[in-house]
Amino acid sequence: MYARIYVLRFPKDSSQRPFTYELIKKFDIEANILKADILPHREGMMVLELRGNKNSVKEGLDYLRSFDVEVERLAAEVRRDEKICFQCGSCTGVCPSGALYIRREDMAVLFDPEKCTGCMLCVTLCPVRAMDISLGKKEHATKT
Ligand code: SF4
Ligand code: SF4
Repeated sequence: MYARIYVLRFPKDSSQRPFTYELIKKFDIEANILKADILPHREGMMVLELRGNKNSVKEGLDYLRSFDVEVERLAAEVRRDEKICFQCGSCTGVCPSGALYIRREDMAVLFDPEKCTGCMLCVTLCPVRAMDISLGKKEHATKT
């Protein structure tokens, strides 16, 4: 499962379109609104987490761009506090990208930040809050 967080900026004339609904219905993408600031006939902004097939997410974003919606990817930096993690392995069951995984030889729970998509599923699931995520670095999403 591909998961990324985007900042969307809507022009005045399309800020009232039900884009989230359209992404779900037309492209079979899960869309989770993390923040929204949209008023009628004003430019709007939304922080949206999109999950689904990578090509579907790309098509969905291209669809938004066809309405002059500006799309930026919100980079997430995820870290694991090794002092707190007690290697319970719960997070490996929810991590959609394989960034958290079990090494069979010694059953160690490992974290590969390179594979992490910043979906945040492990952050809320970890019983001791060992996974920490910081959002804020934005980069233009020329691709997905
Ligand atoms: S759920 Fe938390 S404590 Fe358990 S292995 Fe994952 S990061 Fe470590
Ligand atoms: S935020 Fe956590 S669950 Fe999501 S991809 Fe990264 S390590 Fe895996």
